[in-house]
Amino acid sequence: MDTINYQFTEAFAKEMDSKDPMADFRNEFLFPKVDGKEAIYFCGNSLGLQPKSTAGYIQRELDNWANLAVDGHFHGEDAWYHIRKKSKPALSEIIGAHEHEVVAMNNLSSNLHFLMVSFYQPNPKKFKIITEAGAFPSDMYMLETQVKFHGLDPDKVIVEVSPRKGEHTLRTEDIINSIHEHEGELALVMMAGLQYYTGQVFDMKAITEAAHQVGAKVGFDLAHAAGNVPLKLHDWGVDFATWCSYKYMNSGPGNVSGVFVHERHAEDTSLPRFAGWWGHEEAERFKMEKGFIPMYGADGWQLANSNVLALAAHQASLDIFQKAGIENLRQKSELLTGYLEFLIGQITGDSGVLEIITPKNPNERGCQLSLHIHKGGKAVFDEFYKHGVVGDWRHPNVIRLAPTPLYNSFLDVYRFARILEQSLKKFT
Ligand SMILES: *Cc1c(COP(=O)(O)O)cnc(C)c1O
Repeated sequence: MDTINYQFTEAFAKEMDSKDPMADFRNEFLFPKVDGKEAIYFCGNSLGLQPKSTAGYIQRELDNWANLAVDGHFHGEDAWYHIRKKSKPALSEIIGAHEHEVVAMNNLSSNLHFLMVSFYQPNPKKFKIITEAGAFPSDMYMLETQVKFHGLDPDKVIVEVSPRKGEHTLRTEDIINSIHEHEGELALVMMAGLQYYTGQVFDMKAITEAAHQVGAKVGFDLAHAAGNVPLKLHDWGVDFATWCSYKYMNSGPGNVSGVFVHERHAEDTSLPRFAGWWGHEEAERFKMEKGFIPMYGADGWQLANSNVLALAAHQASLDIFQKAGIENLRQKSELLTGYLEFLIGQITGDSGVLEIITPKNPNERGCQLSLHIHKGGKAVFDEFYKHGVVGDWRHPNVIRLAPTPLYNSFLDVYRFARILEQSLKKFT
């Protein structure tokens, strides 16, 4: 794959598109317009595009509601009562898990809290949490307030692993060393699987092994990893994980999150939980009796009956993922992001105007590249937008670009590169 001879020509980009087995999936999505023209959309890291099929999936549930009302809970193959089961085949492929290890529910930030209730049990000996420095704000606030909830001091509990001086991303060895350095006191490693700012994929397998060696639990926030890079949560032995579905998973703004709980915890009724009736043993649920009995597996962490309209939109996207296959998408993704990296290199060379801070090694990144703009600043980014490129700007000087394999083309990447070339000429 790395032997490909990329070229900075429109003809090359078009040839790549014509050979791309995933190319037709682009037609299944709705593209936003900038100034009346279809955008070059590189913002799937923030909000994935709407599948054309989504409206029909939602309409079907609206019709069920209109025609069946309360009977919709138990009627026919769409019965809402069983809707949690529908997303499991696709989710388990995307996440690398067994079906009983995954469930779609709530929102990501809520799920982080609920999972911490079960998997962060500090005691006077083991109470520390390792995370990455510069984590997504919701994750930072979650950790801070969870620690305070247990009556502890965040400054004494939360250990942040930072990049070395002059480096932008974390070295696996530094994360592992930190795990060993704190081993006597470490309760949990809770970090991103793919860092939202730098685009770095962490070595989840190695981190999990190291944490388990010292008797700590491991959880990952997979907001930027799910639907972007292939994952093997079950085989890696990760204890728990959660993600959102509106970024690479294209399920619509704020839509449902997913949860993974490893099989080894499936029957552990001793884990503390904040329970609700939807996590209660299904056969007993409508007896409406006292005494919580958790369902087997991830389902036992559910609280409330499912948001059917939200899950319909979720399913529209999951069905596309299942048709495409996460491994096929990944193959294209490496080529597409490799092409973007190549073209940026052709344009900027060693001029120092910008620097890609995302790892060069494809195994250490997903589709996103993060650029540090050293000259021209936000004016360069604003110029992109004027020319129809939707990316995102992160204070103080980072542009994130995420060509996603489901709906971006090599021609998108080529066109973007020409716009980048012009913008840099104008502002540097
Ligand atoms: C996007 C993102 C979130 C957002 O959380 P919501 O609860 O969906 O608003 C949280 N954490 C990370 C790491 C993210 O990338």
